[in-house]
Amino acid sequence: MASRREFLITAGSAGAFLTAGTLLAQAQNPVPGAAIGPAEKTAGPGQPPFTLPPLPYAVSALEPHIDAKTMELHHDKHHKTYVDKLNAAIAKQPSLASTPLAQLLAGLEKLPEDVRSEIRTNGGGHANHTMFWEIMAPNAGGTPKGAVAEAITQAFGSFDAFKKRFNEMGEKHVGSGWVFVVMDRSGRALEIATRPNQDTPLLEGGRVLFGNDLWEHAYYLKYNNRREDYLSSWWNVLNWDAINRRYEALKAGSAVI
Ligand code: MN
Repeated sequence: MASRREFLITAGSAGAFLTAGTLLAQAQNPVPGAAIGPAEKTAGPGQPPFTLPPLPYAVSALEPHIDAKTMELHHDKHHKTYVDKLNAAIAKQPSLASTPLAQLLAGLEKLPEDVRSEIRTNGGGHANHTMFWEIMAPNAGGTPKGAVAEAITQAFGSFDAFKKRFNEMGEKHVGSGWVFVVMDRSGRALEIATRPNQDTPLLEGGRVLFGNDLWEHAYYLKYNNRREDYLSSWWNVLNWDAINRRYEALKAGSAVI
C-alpha cells in the first residue's frame, strides 16, 4: 500500500492535473479512491489502466518558446500514442494491470518477454512526458530557487555552469532521446544523464528530477534542425516550483515518475 500511495505523488484527480506538492498531503493522508490520475490506474473494471494526463495549461501557454501546434501534437498525439500502446501491452498481460508504472519500468527484466520492449518504450514514453508537462509552466523560467538552487550550485558550481553542461549534453546526444537531471536520496548528488529513445533512469530504479525531450517532435516545427536554440529557449518555461516539489518528494523516497 505504501508504494501505491507514494506513486500518487504525480497523479492527478478527477480530470485535474495536480502537482507533486498538491498531492503530497493526500499521499501522506490518503482518502481511498480520491487520487487516481494520469500515471495511476483507473478504477473501473474493463477500463484501460493508464490514462493521458490533461495538459496543466493551454497549448499556447508556452509561446513563444514552445509553439501551440507543437504542444498540441506532442501531447494529444505523441503522448496519447504512448499511453494507448502501453495499455495495449498490458491488455496482453492482464496480471500486470495493477502494477504501478515505476515498478513496471524498474522491474522490466521480470516482465513477460512478449510485452517487455513495448512497456519499455511506451511506459517510458508515458513517464517521461508526464514529468515533462509537469515541470514546465507559462510565466516561468529564470534562476532556480529553494533547495534545488542549492543542490545545483553544490553539484555544478553555478547555475550557468549547470545549464551549459545540460545543453551541451542535450546537443551532443545523437538521435532521439532525453536529457535528465537525476538525484540520489540525499538530494546532494545531482547528475546530468542522457538516454536514447524513451528510456528513463527509472529503468535502473533512478530518481528523475526533471528532463528535456530531445526528439525532433518536441521542437522541429519551430526550431527545425536547430536543437541548440530549442535547448537554450526551454529554460524560459521551467517551473522551478514544480521542480522543488519533485525534489522534496524524491528526497522523501516517494516513487515520483
Ligand atoms: Mn516527446
